[in-house]
Amino acid sequence: MPPATRLTYLCTTCRSDRVKLDAWSAWSVESQSWELDSTMQMAFCQDCECETSLVPSRIFVRDSPP
Ligand SMILES: [Zn+2]
Repeated sequence: MPPATRLTYLCTTCRSDRVKLDAWSAWSVESQSWELDSTMQMAFCQDCECETSLVPSRIFVRDSPP
């Protein structure tokens, strides 16, 4: 069985995965909390501490027991 992989996004500058996207959230009366509505293109890297762009990447994950 091939190892499981997951999609992640990395900073193009430093390859860190500590990245964030600008986003809109909308208030939900039902859940009484702010829920993610949509994400924007502008990305921020917490390691570079500045704007960046993201590159999608695959990482291997250990199979977790059921
Ligand atoms: Zn970075």
